[in-house]
Amino acid sequence: MTNPFKHPKSAIVKPMEIPAVLELRKKVFQQGKAMRATLKKLKQKPPRDLDEQFEKLHNQAFKKIDCLQCGNCCKTTSPMLFEKDIERLSARFKMKPGDFVTQYLTLDTDGLYCLQQTPCPFLGDDNACAVYVDRPKACREFPHTNHRKMHTHLALAHHNIEICPAVFAIVEQLNTLT
Ligand code: SF4
Ligand code: SF4
Repeated sequence: MTNPFKHPKSAIVKPMEIPAVLELRKKVFQQGKAMRATLKKLKQKPPRDLDEQFEKLHNQAFKKIDCLQCGNCCKTTSPMLFEKDIERLSARFKMKPGDFVTQYLTLDTDGLYCLQQTPCPFLGDDNACAVYVDRPKACREFPHTNHRKMHTHLALAHHNIEICPAVFAIVEQLNTLT
């Protein structure tokens, strides 16, 4: 995923145990209500330093989490792909954009392009992205926890706490700060 994906598949200091999807969902089941209440509160009344808080927690989380040991975003969700993403990826494969669309993409219910299948066809067995330098913008920005104006991105965290252990760790930490 930075990570969307990536996701900073970054150098890792101390890999933490990446919870399995079901384990993460179990934690969300137990703590999700409180975490979502925190996100709602932050959206309604964002503190002035919200961006700085997120940036700090985002960096802390990705010092501990190795995306290459996880890959859950690429395994379970699809990025949206826009015209520039399609142009870049089709050029990489020396394909016509239309052929790339036919082979890999479909339209979602909002009429936006997404992958036909998950896991992503460009995800390797080692969780590395085979098109990393040309990956879609949505992959570069995932999990959307280090943007400016974070109060406008909090709805994504509602969803992504169930997918990304880094988002879970960030929001769990925010929960203790509010
Ligand atoms: S789900 Fe989160 S931690 Fe896992 S690979 Fe994606 S960005 Fe990295
Ligand atoms: S292109 Fe596929 S494998 Fe690469 S980061 Fe995006 S979802 Fe993951």
